[in-house]
Amino acid sequence: LLEISAVNKFYANLHVLKGVSLEVPEGTVACLLGPSGSGKSTLLRCINHLESIDAGRITMSGQTLAYEERDGQMHERPRAKIDRQRQDIGMVFQHFNLFPHYTVLQNITLAPTLLKKSRKANVTAQAMELLDKVGLANKHNAYPSALSGGQQQRVAIARALAMHPKVMLFDEPTSALDPELVAEVLKVMKDLAQGGMTMIVVTHEMAFAREVADSVVVMDAGVIIESGTPGEVFDNPQHERTREFLRHVR
Ligand code: ATP
Ligand code: MG
Repeated sequence: LLEISAVNKFYANLHVLKGVSLEVPEGTVACLLGPSGSGKSTLLRCINHLESIDAGRITMSGQTLAYEERDGQMHERPRAKIDRQRQDIGMVFQHFNLFPHYTVLQNITLAPTLLKKSRKANVTAQAMELLDKVGLANKHNAYPSALSGGQQQRVAIARALAMHPKVMLFDEPTSALDPELVAEVLKVMKDLAQGGMTMIVVTHEMAFAREVADSVVVMDAGVIIESGTPGEVFDNPQHERTREFLRHVR
């Protein structure tokens, strides 16, 4: 479904992604691990075109994301086309970024109402279904400030799902949560994975990665140094840097 080939990214002179290639087949979960500064967030942001890329290509269902080839060069697509492609990519961040002045339900219906232009009654009914799925149907009229961090993050997941994405990107979705709230968010993510959603998850939750991931991908200094099944990477890491990283997070 998602194919990342030889992606390079610079911030000024800083070479942050150095030829990253990764394939995420439909219905699979890739967990992305690696030390701080290794480029995990940057990779997710490039997939979602929150950041431009300097070389390489990202395709979804065979279509190049955000760029098109002309005269042998890659050019950014027109904004409207990029926005349409981005609707297929849901993203959930460490900080939930809910709109504070909207209710839970409004947070979820806002984008589909603005962008997809489907009938309001449908959008609302679907939002309520999604809230039910994340266990928060009874909170639809609450404001984000009245919710716990775990509840807010579950709303953020429902909000991303409301756009019917083909792939969901998670950037340390539980890192900002109090420990007792982590499990409820991971449960929603696990349900999503079992429902067949294609996902890339940056996480330090090794138990989640071991249980849910189809592939575990380890980044270090802008390079994928190792990838494989959870069993391969966790039980028999090939790279010294992987072993070192795993010692720190365990
Ligand atoms: P963490 O685990 O701490 O979240 P990460 O693996 O997500 O780390 P990135 O946030 O992708 O790492 O950062 C990769 C490198 O790019 C780091 O050296 C970081 O300082 C740098 N970087 C990230 N964003 C920017 C930016 N907007 N401008 C300049 N440099 C940046
Ligand atoms: Mg990060």
